[in-house]
Amino acid sequence: MNLETVSTKYKDRRPGLVRLRQQAELRKRYVAQIPRWRHPIIGYLASIPVVGLALSAMLLAKYTFPSFYFSGATMFLGVVVIALFWGVGPALFSVLLSAIALDYYYVPPVGTTDIFSWAGLLQLAPFLFSGIIIATITGQREAARRRALFAEQEAQAQAQELTQTNLELEQANQLKDQFLSMASHELKTPITSISGQAQVMLRRISKKKEMPEDLVDIRTTLERIYEQTRRLNTLVDDLLSLSSIRSGKLNLRISACNLGEICRSVVEEQRSISGRTIDIVLPDSPVIIQADSDRISQVVTNLVSNALKYSPSESPVRVTVCAEKKAAMLEVHDSGQGISQEELEHIFDTFYRAPDAQTSKKSGWGLGLAICKDIVERHGGRIWCKSQVNDGSTFFVELPLE
Ligand code: ADP
Repeated sequence: MNLETVSTKYKDRRPGLVRLRQQAELRKRYVAQIPRWRHPIIGYLASIPVVGLALSAMLLAKYTFPSFYFSGATMFLGVVVIALFWGVGPALFSVLLSAIALDYYYVPPVGTTDIFSWAGLLQLAPFLFSGIIIATITGQREAARRRALFAEQEAQAQAQELTQTNLELEQANQLKDQFLSMASHELKTPITSISGQAQVMLRRISKKKEMPEDLVDIRTTLERIYEQTRRLNTLVDDLLSLSSIRSGKLNLRISACNLGEICRSVVEEQRSISGRTIDIVLPDSPVIIQADSDRISQVVTNLVSNALKYSPSESPVRVTVCAEKKAAMLEVHDSGQGISQEELEHIFDTFYRAPDAQTSKKSGWGLGLAICKDIVERHGGRIWCKSQVNDGSTFFVELPLE
């Protein structure tokens, strides 16, 4: 039972009572944890021989060394020992026992018990008072130890709970990745088949010299089918890439390649697809990196197509490659809508799309940058973005040089 359970057990009752009951419960648990010989009941029993021993030592000191002034101190020693090992209750009991013993054997007139009269009580008051102080201090120390013990137990229980939750989350995440990967594999074949058939039909229709009205409608429908299956295909490819990278199944085919060349071919391809202006700035000498050229090409393609997608059609995009001391640098700059600081923190998250992108007609699944990040990191590199709203964005990729 943890502290919270103890408190919920007593909820709906008066707070003072609840606190008392909680403390009693904690004490019970504390007592259950300490070794048997330190249980309070043993302390009460042990008080009798300990006080007897202290009394004998005191009387021995008194008669053997009559000039020894502090013979009564042995009685305090006994109380301290009991308080240290057995806590407040037994300590108070030993104070009472010691007071009676002192009264009978030490305080004149010896052989009588005056503690129950005002005069006797007054004589023993300093001893009783000091004894009670010792017991109180011990009690506080004990309570602090108890609190520390329970705080430690609570922390341990919570740490265990966290570890367990983490484990469950990881398992759920693995299950999700597994499901995505299986679903993507299953979807890939039918989508390819639909898109292929739509393409064949479109080709056939386009060969017709005369196009009746209803054929025009069919062509429009087929074009829509083809466009939508192409989108779905991109999604499935991205999901497959992501799951194979994350599950560690992706084997990078590492070889020496020129980052400048990879960028040049991506830029040429993107220029021909989009018809947009894409400037490329390359250094005089090749920038050789050890990498999987297909995967790096995928990163450059994602970044350049994003730059084109999120900037006005008349504005140019610039790709720059350079070699620094220990790293190859790639920059993809656009003069588009930019990204707010808040969104910048999330753009590399899986399935994240900025609110503007979601409401716009720009298609996407929020997977491209997550894939780029995974690929770059698998190559031991870094990817980040600097951007301001309405002031364009620059994506940076740093890859270790050979
Ligand atoms: P998407 O398929 O939505 O483009 P990405 O993972 O490639 O997914 O990008 C995530 C989000 O980051 C995008 O939805 C967009 O909001 C933002 N983003 C990415 N590149 C740019 C860019 N060059 N300019 C402005 N916003 C961008």
